[in-house]
Amino acid sequence: MSVYSRLYEGKAKVIYSTEDPEILLADFKDDATAFNAQKRGSIVGKGNINCIISSKLFQELETLGVKTHYIDSPTPNQMRVKAVKIVPTEVVVRNIAAGSLCQQTGLPLGTLLKQPLVEFYYKNDQLGDPLLTRDRLLLLELATPEQVDEITHLALQINQFLINFFQRCDITLVDFKLEFGLDSQQQILLADEISPDTCRLWDTSAVNDPERRVLDKDRFRKDMGNVENAYQEVLNRVLKAVESHN
Ligand code: UDP
Repeated sequence: MSVYSRLYEGKAKVIYSTEDPEILLADFKDDATAFNAQKRGSIVGKGNINCIISSKLFQELETLGVKTHYIDSPTPNQMRVKAVKIVPTEVVVRNIAAGSLCQQTGLPLGTLLKQPLVEFYYKNDQLGDPLLTRDRLLLLELATPEQVDEITHLALQINQFLINFFQRCDITLVDFKLEFGLDSQQQILLADEISPDTCRLWDTSAVNDPERRVLDKDRFRKDMGNVENAYQEVLNRVLKAVESHN
């Protein structure tokens, strides 16, 4: 497949155009950033790991009828995806209180939420990705009311799938971030990635140990060490869960 040009370089991926305008190539990088790119570093092997995990999860979601941008994965750190116009919101789903939810509400870390919380953040680095109300999201015309409802429904459906999937990996899904896009027919597709970069994943067997349980990017954010090992561990468990299911 001939690749034409580098369209966009984000914090974790480079996006290339291909000979087909409807298809893009996402190249997953080892680069890691946190706190709105104030902290920068590298997680060796992350590009491959996140691409493989995301590919597996997108494929599983497709079999459940959730439409995603995933086409295939020509190399371990590359994913061919359908070109979409990204809805400029980060959709966060939470099952357990952590991160900014604790900081902004005072809820203690680890509080089990009675029901999943779906939140929309404005994808805007200059403004620091602020939390949006539904009315602000509509005011800014980031999506239509119908699209907000559909995205919320999809986010909850994906959450239920991911909770069950990660349970089979002996992993507790704390929270995660999704991005959605519109294809040329204005269909909503799940886009971006689902990986230890974008999820909080706790090792269920160490769930009461705040140091040992963390299997995600918080190890990088908080300089907890063993970052590569944690990502590799998630990959191993995901591959095992996928194999045992097929
Ligand atoms: N998240 C992400 N990208 C972002 C912000 C958050 O992937 O730009 C993920 C993060 O890894 C976590 C969830 O979304 O799994 C909720 O993050 P939170 O709002 O608590 O922000 P944080 O504490 O990570 O700044």
